[in-house]
Amino acid sequence: MNKYTIIGGGPAGLSIAYYANKKGLKYNVFEAGNKVGGNCITIEENGFYFDSGAHRLHNKDIETTEIFKNLLKKELKEINVPSQIFIDNKYVDFPITPLNLVKFLGINNFISEGIKIIFTNLIKNKNACNFKEHVISIYGKKIAELFLINYSEKLWGLKADKLSIEISGKRLKGLNIKTFLLESFFANKIKTKHLDGSFLYPYYGIGTLFEELARHINENNIKTNSRVTKIVHKKNIIKSIIINNKELPVSNLISTIPLDRLILCLSPPPQKKIIDIVDSIKFRHVILIVFFLDKKSVNKNGSMYFPSNDFPFTRIYEPRNRSKFMSPKDKTSLVVEIPCFSLDESWQMNEENLINEIQAKLIKINLFKKSEIIGSKSYRINNAYPVLEFGFNEKIDKIHAYLSKFKNLKISGRNGLFAYTHIHDQFINARKIIGDI
Ligand SMILES: Cc1cc2nc3c(=O)[nH]c(=O)nc-3n(C[C@H](O)[C@H](O)[C@H](O)COP(=O)(O)OP(=O)(O)OC[C@H]3O[C@@H](n4cnc5c(N)ncnc54)[C@H](O)[C@@H]3O)c2cc1C
Repeated sequence: MNKYTIIGGGPAGLSIAYYANKKGLKYNVFEAGNKVGGNCITIEENGFYFDSGAHRLHNKDIETTEIFKNLLKKELKEINVPSQIFIDNKYVDFPITPLNLVKFLGINNFISEGIKIIFTNLIKNKNACNFKEHVISIYGKKIAELFLINYSEKLWGLKADKLSIEISGKRLKGLNIKTFLLESFFANKIKTKHLDGSFLYPYYGIGTLFEELARHINENNIKTNSRVTKIVHKKNIIKSIIINNKELPVSNLISTIPLDRLILCLSPPPQKKIIDIVDSIKFRHVILIVFFLDKKSVNKNGSMYFPSNDFPFTRIYEPRNRSKFMSPKDKTSLVVEIPCFSLDESWQMNEENLINEIQAKLIKINLFKKSEIIGSKSYRINNAYPVLEFGFNEKIDKIHAYLSKFKNLKISGRNGLFAYTHIHDQFINARKIIGDI
């Protein structure tokens, strides 16, 4: 009876299945959707391919990289494309570096902001506890507001003083004297590397990674169109799950589905205080608007970031800049990401009106002409980001403490653990989980 039941066929569920398969364990994966990959898939439309948001495989965990190199062979390529921020009608390299700050601010402003940064760091607010205080204490008010605060507020849907510092990422990692000198004296290669523009990408989109992974592990063990609607437990043991009105006994359960859904599936349900905490955590969704274009190329960027509130979107990417196979010959496409909550205007808006609104903005900033559009499409990504609100850790710790009482339950995944994690993190977690068994 030592079988492992994995709920969710996204990167987290499949990576657990991969290691379970490797270890010779018995397992099953149940996925609600009609294909694997979760929020990490590629969609095809008339010969154009686009991902569920601008994905790249970061070469950050040797074992994850090796797994995919072995699976995809020459169809997994190293890509070098830097990204840029669109601000005041100009493009600035991303993450921000001293050299492009000089270009953007002008030398006088750069020096005065530099002095302020040194001064701010001397009297650094060591008690900075939210994202806004944190970035202002490092980069000074002007740079923080220009490049970080507005963008983050758009992405996460909360004021920056309500966000945890854990959303920071590596956006300003190049801002130091060493990179300034390297960048000034050496060519683009160094620049691209430290701008995080170096990553791995499959010929036909990020989704290929998980389609191939599913093929490699025993596909018969993966059941799609299998939404778990109830998880039955007794005396701190998970006994069974309900899928399509059928009850299946469970000996060990590994859940990678969003934390709130896991809690709401539990039967009997937990005490009200746990339900109340779950009700207070938020997930951010993303709407993708894709334009298929009759032109060879828009520009060379990996991604373009839009901090200004003049645009409802945060990021645009051109799939062809990751792989030439992502669009038919001499054609290209742009994918626009609009983060929102389900009650926001964009999420509620009629698809055609939203496409028209975005189209007008992109034409205005000269990304393409109306005559070049040969089609458009919208696609919704549910639960794209767990919202790391200031103080979220205490809430999540309480939910995890409650779940830890189930002796045969483990959890993983970005929304499962409520952590801002990436593909390689799912593999690292999967190794830990299967290694512990
Ligand atoms: C816009 C965007 C850009 C990103 N860019 C990158 C990037 O560049 N590099 C990178 O490494 N990562 C990136 N990520 C993160 C990456 O996509 C996630 O780390 C990854 O998808 C998380 O995998 P997961 O399995 O935890 O969750 P998911 O991918 O969300 O998969 C969860 C699965 O569970 C299924 N499910 C839900 N409820 C049930 C149920 N009741 N029963 C059965 N199945 C259920 C869902 O259908 C889904 O397939 C990005 C994410 C987004 C949204």
